[in-house]
Amino acid sequence: MSKQTRARRRPEPVPAPPERRRFRTALLTWYRRHGRDLPWRRTDDPYHILVSEIMLQQTQVDRVLTKYDEWLTKYPSLHALAAAPEDEVTRTWYPLGYNIRPKRLHAIARESVARYGGSLPSDEETLLSFKGIGAYTAGAIRSFAFRQRAAILDTNVARVLFRVFVGSGDPKSHAMKQRLWAISAALVPVRHVFDFNQALMDLGAMVCVARKPRCLVCPLARQCRSFPFDPPPAPPKPAQVRKRARR
Ligand code: SF4
Repeated sequence: MSKQTRARRRPEPVPAPPERRRFRTALLTWYRRHGRDLPWRRTDDPYHILVSEIMLQQTQVDRVLTKYDEWLTKYPSLHALAAAPEDEVTRTWYPLGYNIRPKRLHAIARESVARYGGSLPSDEETLLSFKGIGAYTAGAIRSFAFRQRAAILDTNVARVLFRVFVGSGDPKSHAMKQRLWAISAALVPVRHVFDFNQALMDLGAMVCVARKPRCLVCPLARQCRSFPFDPPPAPPKPAQVRKRARR
């Protein structure tokens, strides 16, 4: 086996079991006191979870709340959505934007009716075979609807895990993404998977936010490699760069 192949196969470094336990306990304890009460957390219907996850892509929770109820009243099942005309589905989506999303949701509904009797499958491989369901959405459906021990990694979760367990390097590189997926997978508990993944998202949305994270009230501060987080300086404006280059 070549050196290169060995390097490629080396498993990603993940937190040791005691550190994982500390992290889960701190996060779950915080979530039980501070977690948000959201309508898609009161269901384990895979279709409802799918709708919420697709609506929440690039969109604030506040904007999704009203539309989520309206959507499920109009299309209460994958069958109902599959039977609706496409232009009506796009109109119903307004004003959430990114109009590829209702089209994808509609296509997923039609495929689930055609191939799976109007239900969403629970296994990762089949979920990933749907156009519009990526690794994050598959993990969300499996953990929230089917309570499987499945990892998630969206922007908020990646930020939290990077700051707590890595702390330096390029958080956006492909290699880092792989590493953060491995960390997320190692952390998912056997029990309380639903709460754990929701808690990760809430912490990223409410405490470990992109700018000005609230480190002083963070439940993970004691084990966070970035504590207290000091945001990197903003990149210089083009005019400043030109000025400096002339010196
Ligand atoms: S201590 Fe600060 S940087 Fe670390 S996880 Fe908490 S909020 Fe984020």
